[in-house]
Amino acid sequence: MLALMNYIDGQFVPAASGQTLEDINPATGQRIATIPRSEHQDVEQAAHAAKTAQPEWNALSLEQRADWLDLIADALQAKHEAIAQAESLDTGKPISLARRVDASRSVENFRFFANFGRQQTPLTFEMDDAINLVHRNGLGVVGLITPWNLPLYLMSWKVAPALLMGNAIVAKPSEMTPLTANILAETLHELELPKGVFNLVHGLGPEVGQAILEHPIINGISFTGGTATGRIVAATAAPMFKKLSLELGGKNATIVLEDADLDKAVQGAVRAAFTNSGQVCLCGSRLMLHSSIAEAFLERFVAEVKSMRIGDPKEDLTQIGTVISMEHLAKVESYIKLAVDEGGEILTGGTRDMVGQIGPTAEGAYLAPTVISGLSHLSRCATEEIFGPVVTVHTFDTLEEATTMANATEYGLAGSIWTQDLEVGQALAQTIDTGIVWINTWLHRDLRTPFGGVKHSGVGREGGQWSLGFFSETTNICVMGPNKNDA
Ligand code: NAD
Repeated sequence: MLALMNYIDGQFVPAASGQTLEDINPATGQRIATIPRSEHQDVEQAAHAAKTAQPEWNALSLEQRADWLDLIADALQAKHEAIAQAESLDTGKPISLARRVDASRSVENFRFFANFGRQQTPLTFEMDDAINLVHRNGLGVVGLITPWNLPLYLMSWKVAPALLMGNAIVAKPSEMTPLTANILAETLHELELPKGVFNLVHGLGPEVGQAILEHPIINGISFTGGTATGRIVAATAAPMFKKLSLELGGKNATIVLEDADLDKAVQGAVRAAFTNSGQVCLCGSRLMLHSSIAEAFLERFVAEVKSMRIGDPKEDLTQIGTVISMEHLAKVESYIKLAVDEGGEILTGGTRDMVGQIGPTAEGAYLAPTVISGLSHLSRCATEEIFGPVVTVHTFDTLEEATTMANATEYGLAGSIWTQDLEVGQALAQTIDTGIVWINTWLHRDLRTPFGGVKHSGVGREGGQWSLGFFSETTNICVMGPNKNDA
């Protein structure tokens, strides 16, 4: 069993208290590792190390820091398989998904921001008699707090732009999925990144996470996680005037219009609903079908879902592994029970019947992908984030009705629309209160585009310029001289 350490000021160290927590494999219930149960003292050390290291890091040119990101991308690429294996072990996600998505995207995040950084040009505004020079400097020390569903993918999405813009980092991964953050720390150590530039503290949210939010040296917080936690983050950090980026929960609609290409729409809707067992903030957990195609669509959709291969995450052919933990499984199952109590009909799934039959053991947090019809679009199952392999099905007759249904939740992160009429699709997209809409696709990402949610799905945007903007302090110097071109 691994004994993971914090990474503070270039050294791997235990929690100051000496206490540890256990990291569990959700597919077997077995312990994989222990992690430090860090608290204020550990954050204190990490924040001071970061503060000391930041000026020198910030003094490097953007090109020099971009070169660092390329080095990190190369080193992570060389560990691609180890990252995928660790992510699958920690989360219970299929190894094929961990390879294709988690490990690959973690490398890509560093590569993208390296290239994007090099493409930046100085921003100036000329006046008749002066010139304005816009400067972007690192914020200083930033706190990065990430969830368990896409552990290194989401941490690298923050670490790469934070480093690029000259910040030093105190990062905290989810206590449930610490393995790949540790691989990242080891990689940065091997590359001899200047000590203190990247610090990693493990532990529980209300303890070490809260200490990061409260620490006065840490002047920016980028948080990805649940909306309820986001509220705590905002309430703690806002009165301290910390710069804040909140990427929170979602309850996304997949809307299929009557003219949709049904084959493509079914494939897309299955992917949107059940990728990572529905544990992606962008997952389409509400399926909204035009009534004229609902029956034909559902027949194919349910057949496709039934054919998904549930099994041991380690197996190459597995499509559905486990959810993150037995506790989370109980929460998802409670929603399925609620759906039945509220008059819903389970079209497929809702059970753990596969346990013991095709490999999965009873100790694993397995749940069959579940499709539920017959519920109001205002029911709790159709409006609250379940964050598991569960999709509810609703029908509509008009585009106005589709909009009303899609907007009937406090969340507003993403959604997809399936239609052959791109004008109608785009017009409908603009009526849906979400940060991102895909038309005839889902989770098709261009890393230059703004990513983030409206309503209770978050505050701010990350991606491309938005990440560079968040992780920097933008200042203007207005120069008037004898010859403005001298500036
Ligand atoms: P969570 O909110 O429970 O935890 C997220 C992180 O916050 C963890 O590292 C946790 O330890 C930490 N944390 C918990 N309490 C804290 C506190 N008081 N102070 C500081 N940190 C604290 O979320 P989760 O269960 O790990 O992840 C699932 C949620 O994340 C879902 O709601 C999902 O939609 C959301 N999510 C959003 C996005 C996005 O980009 N919008 C991406 C992935 C996941």
